[in-house]
Amino acid sequence: LIKGLEALKKLPCETLDHHRVPLWVNTGLMADVVRSLERGAEGVGLYRTEIPFLLRDRFPSEEEQRIIYREQLEAFAPHTVTMRTLDVGGDKSLPYFPIDEDNPFLGWRGIRVTLDHPEIFLAQVRAMLKASEGLNNLRIMLPMISSVTELDAAKTLVYRAYHELLEEGHRIEIPPIGVMVEVPSAVYQARELAARADFLSVGSNDLTQYLLAVDRNNARVADLYHAFHPAVLRALQSVVNDGHSQGTSVGICGEMAGDPGAAILLMAMGFDVLSMNATNLPKVKSVIRGITLEQAENLLDEVMLLPDAESVTRTLEKALQDAG
Ligand code: PEP
Ligand code: MG
Repeated sequence: LIKGLEALKKLPCETLDHHRVPLWVNTGLMADVVRSLERGAEGVGLYRTEIPFLLRDRFPSEEEQRIIYREQLEAFAPHTVTMRTLDVGGDKSLPYFPIDEDNPFLGWRGIRVTLDHPEIFLAQVRAMLKASEGLNNLRIMLPMISSVTELDAAKTLVYRAYHELLEEGHRIEIPPIGVMVEVPSAVYQARELAARADFLSVGSNDLTQYLLAVDRNNARVADLYHAFHPAVLRALQSVVNDGHSQGTSVGICGEMAGDPGAAILLMAMGFDVLSMNATNLPKVKSVIRGITLEQAENLLDEVMLLPDAESVTRTLEKALQDAG
């Protein structure tokens, strides 16, 4: 197995007809970094910064954050590391920053929290920017954006941090700033968001939950939570098309990108980057290397006509079996 992985790591992720699909990884801990590099990741599509925050008993200082972020950026340089600003609330609450709400997934979450606490946001962005000095492989990504107003407000804060640091004598560049598309309103405003952002990245975990009104962590309704629901697939295709209409790159960093059947569909939809858990990367790469882009596009055409998630799942399973 190790030998197979080693050989696969060196091979490019491309279809039989040489269509390249960058496979990136989702990280949170330094342990993920080692595994990701072993599997040949070409970048980080989602670094969940809340994970180091969760492992503490108080907010890490700007300098503590800088050290943690520098480690991630250095480990992957020259590859890109996409750092998501703090995404707490919903299912993720910090012991030292309790948020108690009846409906946390519709409450104070992600960018909503950090726009209300610009001091938290600014310290984090300053730490990221300082960490990127001399490496320039940072991208900043904003979670739970549901309007253009939030994107504009967050960008203003990033630029403020950037100008402060320039004045303090740091030699840094403004990084690409991107938006997670994980709320239905962002799907319908993908064009406007893409016009103002440097990249979009679909968070299909939350997008599925919000489109289907199914709590992603509730076992009782787990049967209803399906990223292959035709409504989700249509939303994904529409985000790619709208992002590309503005010349903006569109990736995906939800769990579905690590599912081989889903990865084929996502590639055919035109996603520019698939970002996944490192564990799934070799499997996805083998499947993409065994198919042509045309076959994938034909499969997508077929799947987009199906009425429900179950028939999509069956069709993909059959296609994967036929492909061996
Ligand atoms: C998502 O929602 O798909 C996502 C990638 O973010 P998280 O799972 O951290 O909410
Ligand atoms: Mg999310």
